Amino acid sequence: MSAAHLETLNSEQRRAVEHGVGLAAGAIGGPLLIIAGAGSGKTNTLAHRVAHLIVSGADPRRILLMTFSRRAAAEMSRRVERICAKVLGSKAGVMTDALAWAGTFHGIGARLLRDYAEQIGLDPAFTIHDREDSADLMNFVRHELGFSKMESRFPTKGTCLAIYSRAVNAELPLDDVLRGSYPWCSGWSAQLRELFSAYVEAKQAQNILDYDDLLLYWAQTVSDPLLAEDIGGRFDHVLVDEYQDTNRLQASILKALKPGGQGLTVVGDDAQSIYSFRAASVRNILDFPAAFSPPADIITLDRNYRSTQPILAAANGVIDLASERFTKNLWTERQSTDRPRLVNVRDEADQARYVVERVLENREGGAALKQQAVLFRASHHSGPLEVELTRRNIPFVKFGGLKFLDSAHVKDILALLRFAQNPRDRVAGFRVMQLLPGVGPTTAQRALDLMADGPDPLSVLSDGPPPPRAGAAWMEFVEILLRLRAGEAGWPAEIEQARLWYEPHLTRIHEDASTRQADLLQLEQIASSYPSRERFLTELTLDPPDATSDQAGAPHLDEDYLILSTIHSAKGQEWKSVFLLNTVDGCIPSDLGAGTTAEIEEERRLLYVAMTRAKDDLHLVLPQRFFTHGQNAQGDRHVYASRTRFIPATLLQLFEICAWPAAPAAAQKGLDPRQVRVDVGARMRGMWR
Ligand code: ATP
Ligand code: MG
Repeated sequence: MSAAHLETLNSEQRRAVEHGVGLAAGAIGGPLLIIAGAGSGKTNTLAHRVAHLIVSGADPRRILLMTFSRRAAAEMSRRVERICAKVLGSKAGVMTDALAWAGTFHGIGARLLRDYAEQIGLDPAFTIHDREDSADLMNFVRHELGFSKMESRFPTKGTCLAIYSRAVNAELPLDDVLRGSYPWCSGWSAQLRELFSAYVEAKQAQNILDYDDLLLYWAQTVSDPLLAEDIGGRFDHVLVDEYQDTNRLQASILKALKPGGQGLTVVGDDAQSIYSFRAASVRNILDFPAAFSPPADIITLDRNYRSTQPILAAANGVIDLASERFTKNLWTERQSTDRPRLVNVRDEADQARYVVERVLENREGGAALKQQAVLFRASHHSGPLEVELTRRNIPFVKFGGLKFLDSAHVKDILALLRFAQNPRDRVAGFRVMQLLPGVGPTTAQRALDLMADGPDPLSVLSDGPPPPRAGAAWMEFVEILLRLRAGEAGWPAEIEQARLWYEPHLTRIHEDASTRQADLLQLEQIASSYPSRERFLTELTLDPPDATSDQAGAPHLDEDYLILSTIHSAKGQEWKSVFLLNTVDGCIPSDLGAGTTAEIEEERRLLYVAMTRAKDDLHLVLPQRFFTHGQNAQGDRHVYASRTRFIPATLLQLFEICAWPAAPAAAQKGLDPRQVRVDVGARMRGMWR
């Protein structure tokens, strides 16, 4: 076998790739942890490792590969395929096509749970609730118990769900969660306990799993030694990227699948741990080696291949101020004289103009839009930029913001499909029934109550009389449900069936029906790439496609477009040029959290993640004023901003500090001179703060 595929790797990377390969026939290597900073080639090494395992004879169908997003999993599969193709030539396609178990933790969990549903007393037709559906169900239960009408204010549905989720994911008793993270809700402990137990019952009665359940049920399943052995036995190798953002449940699942750690490889960077709000714990990665006996081998990488030296120096400067940190600083051979820029602008409108001008300049200089990204702490920060991009006709795709699936009409169709698959899914039923003329919340509730009592919920609908004012539309509704339920049209034809049923309702409900119809056609396109309705619904719920500038669903892959992304969704990626919006206190660190030390430290790591996405140039933009969207007690308002506290004066020499536009340009715009005087002053002060 040629080792050409290993030649590009440095010696540490190569050691990680070859770990445990070439042992006596049938033997699998022990556990391995690769822990290293951003851009050091962790993901690249993992892809090489998978490819190397395959070319060395591992069965790709017995490799479980878990990454942070479906996009990352697809990218990883492509890379593995490319490397295998180099070594194996035409045989490679056959082998890597079978890399079927690459996905997210949640997605893989859903698939395994369906396979094992019968054994664990679950109906395999279960549907999955996204956060919004879960909040709706939580709200419904809250109403039923009368908690929403309490005199003093009971926590909102969102808070209830967050508390529940945290307790489940961190495997912590409710009172600990309340004391630690939601002290203002401590007085409601008894009611919350009652609420959560009713919520669990409602989910079970309706045959629904929420995000957290996918991990929880999976962990419960593998806590049975026989099932654990059976599931663990399906895989020779289990590999996990971005391990620093897993939680205790995920760690316990891995441990149960591979108790001795045989064939287990995890990869991560503690300095990039940014998901503690989902109960991810940086302890997971630090505790990994000692969880096994003998303990896991540890490989660290210290050369960064991504960024130029000045960018890396600035990122290292920021993370060096962290109170706790384990991986050491990186070095790079990529020299450059361009320091990252700290750009002072007047407000968010100027920030948007600055970014657009620079992006276009870069494009003229040969950098495609796709090689550039604009990052932000919170999804709504990109609002003014989206307006400017649209005005200037620049296509963009937004990751981590409003999703294609959040639009009402797409949700309607999905609710219909979900309700057909699982007629006990109350949230789906409630939504779709109210599309019918003459059916309001009360009628829908009543119908769902009747259905809940019968052994075959759909026959309750088809046998009973239609609600008085719904008439023919109701009969058509029952008919489409029965047809979808029977699956007679097959997949993906049935999604067209669903659309045809829905269209008259769409035109009745929405004025802009024609653009919405285009979205639905797009949805059909997306659907046709999934093997079954079940997989389509599951994977779309877990990891929906991203919103685009033309609001028409997934972008055409051959088009050039600018990337807009929250920092969280930019994890693991890299671009030639990176712009970070609102690099000011209040945005990063965000003032949403309670401001505990741990929260502030996580915000610092977020800034580090953002800065380390850049290969060649990095722009941190600082508007002197920005708009808050009612997050704080004062409601919506403009606030004056100051540079993020994570870049104190001592770090300023690592940046090039500039202002945009230059003062005379502002005057040329014909602004009120008094305003210019005030704004320039603010900008100057900002430069030296
Ligand atoms: P992150 O922490 O951001 O997830 P990472 O450690 O996973 O980063 P990769 O994304 O795997 O890093 O790699 C960063 C860049 O470095 C990629 O462009 C990759 O192709 C390149 N790279 C990695 N290893 C090497 C190598 N040995 N030689 C040349 N380039 C490399
Ligand atoms: Mg990576």
